[in-house]
Amino acid sequence: MVLYTPGRTSSYPDTPVESGIRIHFLGGGDEVGNVGVILEDQTQTRLLIDYGLAPTSPPRYPSESPYISDAIFTHAHIDHIGMAPWLVGNHQTKLHSTSLTAALSRIMWKDTYKVSSIEGYPLPWDRRDEDEANQSWETHPFHQWVQHDNWQWQLHPAGHIPGASMIEIETPSHKILHTGDMDTRTSPNTFGAKPVDCDILLLESTYSGKEHPNRIEEEARFVAKVIEVVERGGVAIIPAFASGRGQDIIRILHNSGYDLNVHYDGMGKAVSQIWLEHPEHLQDSTSFEQAFKWTRRVRSKSDRKRALEADVIVTTSGMLDGGPVLWYLNRLRNDSRSAVLFTGYQAEGSGGRQLIEKGSLPIYGHNVEIHCEIDRFQLSNHAGHSELIEFAEACDPKHIILFHGDPETKPQLAEALEQKGMTVHCPKNGESIHIN
Ligand SMILES: [Zn+2]
Repeated sequence: MVLYTPGRTSSYPDTPVESGIRIHFLGGGDEVGNVGVILEDQTQTRLLIDYGLAPTSPPRYPSESPYISDAIFTHAHIDHIGMAPWLVGNHQTKLHSTSLTAALSRIMWKDTYKVSSIEGYPLPWDRRDEDEANQSWETHPFHQWVQHDNWQWQLHPAGHIPGASMIEIETPSHKILHTGDMDTRTSPNTFGAKPVDCDILLLESTYSGKEHPNRIEEEARFVAKVIEVVERGGVAIIPAFASGRGQDIIRILHNSGYDLNVHYDGMGKAVSQIWLEHPEHLQDSTSFEQAFKWTRRVRSKSDRKRALEADVIVTTSGMLDGGPVLWYLNRLRNDSRSAVLFTGYQAEGSGGRQLIEKGSLPIYGHNVEIHCEIDRFQLSNHAGHSELIEFAEACDPKHIILFHGDPETKPQLAEALEQKGMTVHCPKNGESIHIN
Protein backbone atom coordinates (compact mmCIF):
# COMPACT_ATOMS: atom_id res chain seq x y z
CA MET A 1 0.00 0.00 0.00
CA VAL A 2 1.40 3.35 -1.04
CA LEU A 3 0.47 5.98 1.50
CA TYR A 4 0.50 9.45 0.10
CA THR A 5 2.82 11.78 1.93
CA PRO A 6 2.70 15.00 -0.04
CA GLY A 7 6.14 16.02 -1.22
CA ARG A 8 7.79 12.74 -0.25
CA THR A 9 6.34 10.01 -2.43
CA SER A 10 6.58 11.55 -5.90
CA SER A 11 8.94 10.11 -8.48
CA TYR A 12 8.66 13.35 -10.47
CA PRO A 13 12.03 15.12 -10.86
CA ASP A 14 12.28 18.63 -9.39
CA THR A 15 14.83 19.74 -12.00
CA PRO A 16 13.54 22.07 -14.75
CA VAL A 17 13.25 20.80 -18.34
CA GLU A 18 16.08 22.40 -20.34
CA SER A 19 14.97 21.57 -23.86
CA GLY A 20 12.43 19.48 -25.77
CA ILE A 21 9.74 17.48 -23.99
CA ARG A 22 9.96 15.48 -20.78
CA ILE A 23 7.53 12.56 -20.54
CA HIS A 24 7.28 10.99 -17.09
CA PHE A 25 5.18 7.98 -16.08
CA LEU A 26 3.84 8.15 -12.52
CA GLY A 27 2.15 4.81 -13.26
CA GLY A 28 1.06 2.62 -16.17
CA GLY A 29 4.50 2.69 -17.82
CA ASP A 30 5.38 -0.98 -17.52
CA GLU A 31 2.01 -2.33 -16.33
CA VAL A 32 -1.61 -2.48 -17.50
CA GLY A 33 -3.76 0.14 -15.76
CA ASN A 34 -2.77 2.48 -12.90
CA VAL A 35 -2.03 5.15 -15.49
CA GLY A 36 -0.67 8.67 -15.04
CA VAL A 37 1.79 10.51 -17.29
CA ILE A 38 3.12 14.07 -17.11
CA LEU A 39 4.30 15.99 -20.17
CA GLU A 40 6.36 19.14 -19.66
CA ASP A 41 8.59 21.38 -21.82
CA GLN A 42 11.21 24.07 -21.15
CA THR A 43 8.54 26.76 -20.77
CA GLN A 44 7.27 24.82 -17.71
CA THR A 45 4.02 24.15 -19.54
CA ARG A 46 2.78 20.91 -18.06
CA LEU A 47 -0.19 18.56 -18.42
CA LEU A 48 -1.14 15.33 -16.65
CA ILE A 49 -2.96 12.69 -18.68
CA ASP A 50 -5.04 10.21 -16.65
CA TYR A 51 -4.59 9.46 -12.97
CA GLY A 52 -6.03 6.08 -12.04
CA LEU A 53 -5.65 3.25 -9.60
CA ALA A 54 -5.47 -0.49 -10.17
CA PRO A 55 -8.52 -2.05 -8.45
CA THR A 56 -6.57 -5.03 -7.12
CA SER A 57 -6.86 -6.05 -3.48
CA PRO A 58 -5.26 -3.99 -2.02
CA PRO A 59 -5.32 -1.42 -4.86
CA ARG A 60 -2.16 -0.12 -6.50
CA TYR A 61 -1.64 3.60 -6.96
CA PRO A 62 0.58 5.63 -9.26
CA SER A 63 3.32 7.77 -7.76
CA GLU A 64 2.22 11.10 -6.28
CA SER A 65 1.58 13.82 -8.82
CA PRO A 66 3.42 17.13 -8.39
CA TYR A 67 1.37 20.34 -8.62
CA ILE A 68 -0.73 20.25 -11.75
CA SER A 69 -3.23 22.90 -12.84
CA ASP A 70 -4.94 20.83 -15.57
CA ALA A 71 -5.38 17.10 -16.16
CA ILE A 72 -7.01 15.44 -19.16
CA PHE A 73 -8.81 12.10 -18.78
CA THR A 74 -9.05 9.68 -21.70
CA HIS A 75 -11.97 7.61 -20.39
CA ALA A 76 -13.91 6.60 -17.30
CA HIS A 77 -12.36 3.24 -16.42
CA ILE A 78 -11.13 3.31 -12.84
CA ASP A 79 -7.51 2.53 -13.79
CA HIS A 80 -7.51 5.90 -15.61
CA ILE A 81 -9.70 8.15 -13.41
CA GLY A 82 -9.53 6.58 -9.93
CA MET A 83 -7.18 9.16 -8.39
CA ALA A 84 -8.68 12.32 -9.91
CA PRO A 85 -10.42 13.27 -6.61
CA TRP A 86 -7.01 13.28 -4.91
CA LEU A 87 -5.72 15.75 -7.52
CA VAL A 88 -8.63 18.10 -6.94
CA GLY A 89 -8.45 17.78 -3.15
CA ASN A 90 -4.71 18.51 -3.09
CA HIS A 91 -4.00 20.73 -6.10
CA GLN A 92 -7.44 22.11 -7.09
CA THR A 93 -6.70 20.64 -10.51
CA LYS A 94 -9.14 21.35 -13.34
CA LEU A 95 -10.31 18.07 -14.93
CA HIS A 96 -10.93 17.82 -18.69
CA SER A 97 -12.68 15.11 -20.74
CA THR A 98 -15.65 14.42 -22.96
CA SER A 99 -19.07 15.02 -21.39
CA LEU A 100 -19.76 11.27 -21.20
CA THR A 101 -16.48 10.50 -19.40
CA ALA A 102 -17.22 13.24 -16.84
CA ALA A 103 -20.75 11.91 -16.26
CA LEU A 104 -19.55 8.31 -15.84
CA SER A 105 -16.73 9.29 -13.46
CA ARG A 106 -19.28 10.33 -10.86
CA ILE A 107 -20.68 6.79 -10.47
CA MET A 108 -17.30 5.12 -10.87
CA TRP A 109 -15.85 7.13 -7.95
CA LYS A 110 -18.94 6.52 -5.87
CA ASP A 111 -18.61 2.78 -6.42
CA THR A 112 -14.85 2.82 -5.70
CA TYR A 113 -15.50 4.60 -2.42
CA LYS A 114 -18.21 2.06 -1.50
CA VAL A 115 -15.99 -0.93 -2.34
CA SER A 116 -13.08 0.54 -0.34
CA SER A 117 -15.34 0.86 2.73
CA ILE A 118 -16.63 -2.72 2.34
CA GLU A 119 -13.18 -4.20 1.81
CA GLY A 120 -11.65 -2.05 4.53
CA TYR A 121 -8.74 -0.47 2.70
CA PRO A 122 -8.20 3.27 2.91
CA LEU A 123 -8.40 5.42 -0.20
CA PRO A 124 -6.04 8.40 -0.49
CA TRP A 125 -9.12 10.62 -1.05
CA ASP A 126 -12.38 11.13 0.82
CA ARG A 127 -15.99 12.13 0.12
CA ARG A 128 -15.18 15.84 0.21
CA ASP A 129 -12.46 15.42 -2.44
CA GLU A 130 -14.97 13.42 -4.50
CA ASP A 131 -17.59 16.20 -4.26
CA GLU A 132 -15.02 18.80 -5.28
CA ALA A 133 -13.90 16.61 -8.19
CA ASN A 134 -17.49 16.38 -9.44
CA GLN A 135 -17.50 20.20 -9.57
CA SER A 136 -14.13 20.47 -11.33
CA TRP A 137 -14.94 19.15 -14.78
CA GLU A 138 -14.59 21.11 -17.97
CA THR A 139 -16.02 19.02 -20.81
CA HIS A 140 -15.06 19.23 -24.49
CA PRO A 141 -16.43 17.96 -27.79
CA PHE A 142 -14.15 16.05 -30.14
CA HIS A 143 -12.02 18.00 -32.64
CA GLN A 144 -12.03 21.34 -30.84
CA TRP A 145 -8.71 22.96 -29.88
CA VAL A 146 -8.23 24.01 -26.27
CA GLN A 147 -5.50 26.50 -25.35
CA HIS A 148 -3.19 25.62 -22.42
CA ASP A 149 -0.33 28.10 -21.83
CA ASN A 150 2.00 27.66 -24.83
CA TRP A 151 0.28 24.48 -25.99
CA GLN A 152 -3.03 23.53 -27.52
CA TRP A 153 -4.78 20.18 -27.41
CA GLN A 154 -7.88 18.44 -28.75
CA LEU A 155 -9.73 15.15 -28.27
CA HIS A 156 -10.24 12.45 -30.92
CA PRO A 157 -12.51 9.36 -30.65
CA ALA A 158 -10.56 6.33 -29.34
CA GLY A 159 -13.05 3.49 -29.91
CA HIS A 160 -12.64 1.33 -26.74
CA ILE A 161 -15.80 2.56 -24.94
CA PRO A 162 -18.26 5.37 -25.72
CA GLY A 163 -16.81 8.75 -24.71
CA ALA A 164 -13.21 7.47 -24.76
CA SER A 165 -10.71 9.82 -26.37
CA MET A 166 -7.20 10.08 -27.67
CA ILE A 167 -5.45 13.39 -26.96
CA GLU A 168 -3.55 15.37 -29.59
CA ILE A 169 -1.20 18.01 -28.17
CA GLU A 170 0.63 20.67 -30.16
CA THR A 171 3.58 22.29 -28.43
CA PRO A 172 5.79 24.91 -30.16
CA SER A 173 8.22 22.07 -31.00
CA HIS A 174 6.22 18.82 -31.26
CA LYS A 175 2.95 17.18 -32.26
CA ILE A 176 2.07 14.51 -29.72
CA LEU A 177 -0.70 11.88 -29.66
CA HIS A 178 -1.65 9.98 -26.49
CA THR A 179 -3.99 7.09 -27.39
CA GLY A 180 -5.48 6.33 -23.96
CA ASP A 181 -7.03 2.86 -24.27
CA MET A 182 -7.80 2.46 -27.94
CA ASP A 183 -9.33 0.17 -30.54
CA THR A 184 -9.25 0.74 -34.29
CA ARG A 185 -11.93 -1.90 -34.86
CA THR A 186 -15.61 -1.08 -34.80
CA SER A 187 -17.34 -2.72 -31.83
CA PRO A 188 -21.09 -3.05 -31.06
CA ASN A 189 -21.21 0.40 -29.41
CA THR A 190 -18.28 2.40 -30.81
CA PHE A 191 -16.56 3.24 -34.10
CA GLY A 192 -12.85 2.46 -34.42
CA ALA A 193 -10.16 5.09 -33.75
CA LYS A 194 -8.56 6.84 -36.74
CA PRO A 195 -4.81 7.62 -36.93
CA VAL A 196 -3.56 11.17 -36.27
CA ASP A 197 -0.33 12.47 -37.82
CA CYS A 198 2.24 13.17 -35.06
CA ASP A 199 5.96 13.34 -34.08
CA ILE A 200 5.62 11.52 -30.77
CA LEU A 201 3.08 8.71 -30.27
CA LEU A 202 2.25 7.44 -26.78
CA LEU A 203 0.70 4.08 -27.69
CA GLU A 204 -1.18 1.79 -25.32
CA SER A 205 0.13 -1.74 -25.74
CA THR A 206 -2.24 -3.98 -23.80
CA TYR A 207 -2.32 -6.51 -26.67
CA SER A 208 1.33 -6.32 -27.70
CA GLY A 209 2.33 -9.73 -29.01
CA LYS A 210 -1.28 -10.92 -29.06
CA GLU A 211 -3.62 -11.17 -32.04
CA HIS A 212 -7.41 -11.09 -31.82
CA PRO A 213 -9.57 -13.65 -33.58
CA ASN A 214 -11.91 -12.26 -36.23
CA ARG A 215 -14.47 -10.22 -34.27
CA ILE A 216 -17.54 -11.32 -36.27
CA GLU A 217 -16.59 -15.02 -36.02
CA GLU A 218 -15.89 -14.74 -32.29
CA GLU A 219 -19.26 -13.06 -31.68
CA ALA A 220 -20.94 -15.90 -33.63
CA ARG A 221 -19.08 -18.53 -31.58
CA PHE A 222 -20.20 -16.74 -28.40
CA VAL A 223 -23.87 -16.63 -29.46
CA ALA A 224 -23.73 -20.33 -30.47
CA LYS A 225 -22.46 -21.26 -26.98
CA VAL A 226 -25.22 -19.22 -25.30
CA ILE A 227 -27.85 -21.04 -27.39
CA GLU A 228 -26.29 -24.43 -26.60
CA VAL A 229 -26.45 -23.69 -22.84
CA VAL A 230 -30.04 -22.45 -23.03
CA GLU A 231 -31.19 -25.44 -25.11
CA ARG A 232 -29.85 -27.90 -22.55
CA GLY A 233 -31.79 -26.09 -19.81
CA GLY A 234 -28.95 -24.11 -18.24
CA VAL A 235 -28.32 -20.43 -17.52
CA ALA A 236 -25.48 -18.60 -19.30
CA ILE A 237 -23.83 -16.40 -16.65
CA ILE A 238 -21.82 -13.64 -18.30
CA PRO A 239 -19.62 -11.64 -15.92
CA ALA A 240 -18.98 -8.26 -17.53
CA PHE A 241 -17.52 -4.88 -16.62
CA ALA A 242 -20.09 -2.18 -15.86
CA SER A 243 -18.74 0.20 -18.45
CA GLY A 244 -18.42 -1.21 -21.95
CA ARG A 245 -18.39 -4.99 -22.10
CA GLY A 246 -21.81 -5.60 -20.53
CA GLN A 247 -23.44 -3.26 -23.06
CA ASP A 248 -21.54 -4.94 -25.92
CA ILE A 249 -22.86 -8.35 -24.80
CA ILE A 250 -26.43 -7.10 -24.63
CA ARG A 251 -26.15 -5.64 -28.09
CA ILE A 252 -24.64 -8.85 -29.53
CA LEU A 253 -27.42 -10.98 -28.00
CA HIS A 254 -30.14 -8.58 -29.17
CA ASN A 255 -28.70 -8.47 -32.69
CA SER A 256 -28.54 -12.28 -32.84
CA GLY A 257 -32.30 -12.34 -33.36
CA TYR A 258 -32.81 -15.25 -30.90
CA ASP A 259 -35.72 -14.99 -28.52
CA LEU A 260 -33.69 -14.90 -25.31
CA ASN A 261 -34.70 -14.02 -21.78
CA VAL A 262 -31.75 -11.79 -20.74
CA HIS A 263 -31.51 -10.37 -17.21
CA TYR A 264 -29.16 -7.44 -16.59
CA ASP A 265 -27.87 -6.82 -13.07
CA GLY A 266 -25.23 -4.61 -11.38
CA MET A 267 -23.82 -1.16 -12.03
CA GLY A 268 -23.93 -1.60 -15.82
CA LYS A 269 -27.62 -0.58 -15.73
CA ALA A 270 -26.80 2.88 -14.32
CA VAL A 271 -23.91 3.22 -16.77
CA SER A 272 -26.29 2.40 -19.65
CA GLN A 273 -28.74 5.10 -18.50
CA ILE A 274 -25.89 7.64 -18.61
CA TRP A 275 -24.90 6.43 -22.08
CA LEU A 276 -28.45 7.09 -23.23
CA GLU A 277 -28.22 10.67 -21.93
CA HIS A 278 -25.18 11.12 -24.24
CA PRO A 279 -26.39 9.45 -27.46
CA GLU A 280 -23.88 11.37 -29.62
CA HIS A 281 -21.14 9.09 -28.22
CA LEU A 282 -22.85 5.83 -29.22
CA GLN A 283 -22.82 3.93 -32.44
CA ASP A 284 -26.54 3.90 -33.32
CA SER A 285 -27.99 4.93 -29.96
CA THR A 286 -31.51 3.88 -31.02
CA SER A 287 -30.41 0.26 -31.41
CA PHE A 288 -28.63 0.43 -28.06
CA GLU A 289 -31.76 1.73 -26.39
CA GLN A 290 -33.81 -1.10 -27.94
CA ALA A 291 -31.30 -3.69 -26.75
CA PHE A 292 -31.20 -2.20 -23.24
CA LYS A 293 -35.00 -2.13 -22.95
CA TRP A 294 -35.18 -5.67 -24.32
CA THR A 295 -33.29 -6.94 -21.23
CA ARG A 296 -35.00 -7.36 -17.86
CA ARG A 297 -33.24 -5.04 -15.45
CA VAL A 298 -32.82 -6.64 -12.02
CA ARG A 299 -33.88 -4.08 -9.40
CA SER A 300 -34.77 -6.03 -6.26
CA LYS A 301 -34.10 -9.24 -4.34
CA SER A 302 -37.17 -10.90 -5.83
CA ASP A 303 -36.02 -9.86 -9.33
CA ARG A 304 -32.73 -11.52 -8.54
CA LYS A 305 -34.43 -14.78 -7.54
CA ARG A 306 -36.50 -14.67 -10.73
CA ALA A 307 -33.31 -14.21 -12.76
CA LEU A 308 -32.23 -17.72 -11.71
CA GLU A 309 -34.84 -18.93 -14.26
CA ALA A 310 -33.40 -16.71 -17.01
CA ASP A 311 -31.64 -17.84 -20.20
CA VAL A 312 -28.83 -15.35 -19.72
CA ILE A 313 -27.60 -13.21 -16.81
CA VAL A 314 -25.24 -10.34 -17.65
CA THR A 315 -23.78 -8.86 -14.48
CA THR A 316 -20.82 -7.38 -12.62
CA SER A 317 -18.12 -7.82 -11.58
CA GLY A 318 -16.25 -8.72 -14.75
CA MET A 319 -13.45 -10.53 -12.88
CA LEU A 320 -15.64 -12.16 -10.17
CA ASP A 321 -14.14 -10.02 -7.41
CA GLY A 322 -17.51 -8.99 -5.98
CA GLY A 323 -20.87 -7.79 -7.24
CA PRO A 324 -24.10 -9.72 -7.92
CA VAL A 325 -22.31 -12.33 -10.05
CA LEU A 326 -21.13 -14.05 -6.86
CA TRP A 327 -24.71 -14.36 -5.59
CA TYR A 328 -25.75 -16.04 -8.86
CA LEU A 329 -22.72 -18.33 -8.94
CA ASN A 330 -23.35 -19.43 -5.38
CA ARG A 331 -26.92 -20.42 -6.30
CA LEU A 332 -26.08 -22.09 -9.61
CA ARG A 333 -22.72 -23.66 -8.66
CA ASN A 334 -23.95 -27.29 -8.79
CA ASP A 335 -25.86 -26.93 -12.06
CA SER A 336 -23.66 -28.53 -14.71
CA ARG A 337 -26.12 -27.44 -17.44
CA SER A 338 -25.28 -23.79 -16.68
CA ALA A 339 -22.13 -22.07 -17.88
CA VAL A 340 -19.88 -19.15 -16.95
CA LEU A 341 -18.87 -17.42 -20.17
CA PHE A 342 -15.88 -15.08 -19.80
CA THR A 343 -15.45 -12.41 -22.46
CA GLY A 344 -12.61 -10.39 -20.96
CA TYR A 345 -9.16 -10.55 -19.46
CA GLN A 346 -8.99 -12.12 -15.97
CA ALA A 347 -6.14 -10.53 -14.01
CA GLU A 348 -3.68 -12.48 -11.87
CA GLY A 349 -5.19 -12.90 -8.39
CA SER A 350 -8.80 -12.26 -9.51
CA GLY A 351 -11.67 -14.64 -8.70
CA GLY A 352 -12.14 -15.21 -12.43
CA ARG A 353 -8.54 -16.31 -12.89
CA GLN A 354 -8.89 -18.75 -9.97
CA LEU A 355 -12.11 -20.18 -11.41
CA ILE A 356 -10.45 -20.78 -14.79
CA GLU A 357 -7.32 -22.35 -13.28
CA LYS A 358 -8.76 -24.29 -10.32
CA GLY A 359 -12.53 -24.59 -10.87
CA SER A 360 -13.24 -22.77 -7.60
CA LEU A 361 -13.28 -19.25 -6.20
CA PRO A 362 -13.87 -17.41 -2.92
CA ILE A 363 -17.52 -16.48 -2.35
CA TYR A 364 -18.49 -14.66 0.87
CA GLY A 365 -15.33 -15.87 2.61
CA HIS A 366 -15.54 -19.55 1.56
CA ASN A 367 -13.74 -21.32 -1.23
CA VAL A 368 -16.54 -22.69 -3.41
CA GLU A 369 -16.28 -25.30 -6.18
CA ILE A 370 -18.18 -24.41 -9.32
CA HIS A 371 -19.58 -27.29 -11.40
CA CYS A 372 -20.86 -25.14 -14.29
CA GLU A 373 -19.16 -25.27 -17.68
CA ILE A 374 -16.46 -22.58 -18.04
CA ASP A 375 -15.69 -21.08 -21.44
CA ARG A 376 -13.78 -18.04 -22.73
CA PHE A 377 -14.33 -15.67 -25.64
CA GLN A 378 -12.22 -12.78 -26.86
CA LEU A 379 -14.41 -9.71 -27.30
CA SER A 380 -11.71 -7.21 -26.37
CA ASN A 381 -12.04 -3.44 -26.86
CA HIS A 382 -8.31 -2.87 -27.31
CA ALA A 383 -6.44 -2.93 -30.62
CA GLY A 384 -4.53 -6.20 -31.17
CA HIS A 385 -0.86 -6.52 -32.12
CA SER A 386 -1.32 -6.07 -35.90
CA GLU A 387 -3.82 -3.23 -35.46
CA LEU A 388 -1.36 -1.40 -33.16
CA ILE A 389 1.39 -1.64 -35.81
CA GLU A 390 -0.94 -0.51 -38.59
CA PHE A 391 -2.17 2.43 -36.49
CA ALA A 392 1.37 3.49 -35.52
CA GLU A 393 2.55 3.40 -39.15
CA ALA A 394 -0.38 5.55 -40.24
CA CYS A 395 0.37 8.15 -37.50
CA ASP A 396 3.94 8.24 -38.88
CA PRO A 397 5.77 9.39 -35.70
CA LYS A 398 9.54 9.58 -35.20
CA HIS A 399 9.24 8.40 -31.60
CA ILE A 400 6.89 5.84 -30.09
CA ILE A 401 6.43 5.39 -26.37
CA LEU A 402 4.80 2.09 -25.42
CA PHE A 403 2.83 2.24 -22.17
CA HIS A 404 -0.09 0.32 -20.55
CA GLY A 405 1.36 -3.07 -21.47
CA ASP A 406 2.77 -6.31 -20.18
CA PRO A 407 6.58 -5.97 -19.87
CA GLU A 408 6.90 -9.60 -21.06
CA THR A 409 5.15 -9.12 -24.40
CA LYS A 410 5.95 -5.47 -25.09
CA PRO A 411 9.40 -6.21 -26.63
CA GLN A 412 7.66 -8.07 -29.50
CA LEU A 413 5.74 -4.93 -30.40
CA ALA A 414 8.80 -2.70 -29.88
CA GLU A 415 10.84 -4.88 -32.24
CA ALA A 416 8.17 -4.87 -34.93
CA LEU A 417 7.92 -1.05 -34.76
CA GLU A 418 11.70 -0.58 -34.79
CA GLN A 419 11.85 -2.62 -37.99
CA LYS A 420 9.57 0.02 -39.52
CA GLY A 421 12.20 2.69 -38.71
CA MET A 422 10.62 4.23 -35.61
CA THR A 423 12.51 4.95 -32.38
CA VAL A 424 10.72 3.02 -29.64
CA HIS A 425 10.84 3.77 -25.90
CA CYS A 426 9.53 1.39 -23.22
CA PRO A 427 9.35 3.51 -20.04
CA LYS A 428 9.32 2.12 -16.53
CA ASN A 429 7.23 3.78 -13.84
CA GLY A 430 9.11 6.68 -12.29
CA GLU A 431 11.35 7.13 -15.33
CA SER A 432 11.53 10.25 -17.51
CA ILE A 433 12.01 10.21 -21.27
CA HIS A 434 13.46 13.34 -22.91
CA ILE A 435 12.79 14.00 -26.59
CA ASN A 436 14.37 16.99 -28.35
ZN1 LIG B 1 -10.14 1.22 -20.40
